[in-house]
Amino acid sequence: MSLHQRLCDAVNEARIGQTALELVSIPSPTGSTREAIRYFETVYRELGCEITRIDGIKGSPFGTDAPSVAARLRGTSDAPTLQIDGHIDTIPAAHAPASLVNNVLSGRGAADMKGGLAAVIEAARVLRELQVQVPGDLLFTTHGLHEAPTGHGEGLLALINEGLHGAAAVVAEGPVDELAVTGRGMAIFTIEVKTTGRSGHENETPPDTPHPLVAAAEVLRALEAERVRLQRTLRPYVGSETIFFGQLHGGDFYNRFPVEAMIQGTRRYFDDHDVREVREEMEAILARVAEDTGTTITLDFDRIRDGFKVSEDERIVRAFRWSYRALNGKEPPLGAFKSVADVSLLVQAAGIPAVFCGNRGIGAHADREEVDVRELVHQTRMLLGIIVAYFGLET
Ligand SMILES: [Zn+2]
Repeated sequence: MSLHQRLCDAVNEARIGQTALELVSIPSPTGSTREAIRYFETVYRELGCEITRIDGIKGSPFGTDAPSVAARLRGTSDAPTLQIDGHIDTIPAAHAPASLVNNVLSGRGAADMKGGLAAVIEAARVLRELQVQVPGDLLFTTHGLHEAPTGHGEGLLALINEGLHGAAAVVAEGPVDELAVTGRGMAIFTIEVKTTGRSGHENETPPDTPHPLVAAAEVLRALEAERVRLQRTLRPYVGSETIFFGQLHGGDFYNRFPVEAMIQGTRRYFDDHDVREVREEMEAILARVAEDTGTTITLDFDRIRDGFKVSEDERIVRAFRWSYRALNGKEPPLGAFKSVADVSLLVQAAGIPAVFCGNRGIGAHADREEVDVRELVHQTRMLLGIIVAYFGLET
């Protein structure tokens, strides 16, 4: 029997379910992840890993409430380190209490992404149980400060800045039936349109006072033209760059002259499009509208993550393919990851190739998140296959 097959057979479904339930039972909204991190630390210390924790992350207002941690399982030689990463914070929305019923785990973070963290833990446990040692170190990392708008990846960046990253990495969320080799970056834009006039009765307002709602309509029209223009440039897997309008507000009473309006949305851009340029392009459009309408327009442009691209020749990409073939009997289709996530930080900030390896959890960020534990079994087997192939333990 092959090594991968032996490892797959040793994956313990009940144990994954229990681990995932325990993790989901510890609330960990972005900014308060200390207790969940402690759980992770305890598990990996018991598995014989060396633990490094970073408290008080630079640029984070949460002090020691949102640490990052790296657990290193030493390899037998100085072969390259493989990192397996996942964020431990969840969005701060309320959720029914954690439950595991009929093998379905539900709770805040079940899909995004504590189920994935439980699969990573199970992979480490299986390797230890079967006493399989790999030539390079395995570096298991987790952190908070991931979920926007509070998090911008500060937790993972802190690890990267301390050199706590691998020569390649797997992020245990994202696509299941696809090998994402690229993804776009995303920024949240907030545009404020202000009049030079004052609020008051419409009849008391001079008729040529710049109207912020009319100016906001002009902003929408100009950005909509830009959106349509962006659609003309298509790239493989990712499609085009986009502008999306999520909200528009202004005014508060039918005959009161409004003084401001607000437009907010997302701007998604290609991996090689510098975020400063993207911002400047939008600023130029807004400056024209401000001049035409006599209003003041300001832009807040909050980069959440840049995009990424990974060469199909990278060892970690080949390892993903090998594992996928071993479990599914066919090649994985190549694709793009639609949202932004931490692969881009690993690629851009750490300068290493990275891939996603997720599960079929459903309802990330929704009122109800859930994942079938059998999907976590599958994810664990994928991760084990990637480890086996990355270190060339079986070809
Ligand atoms: Zn996530």
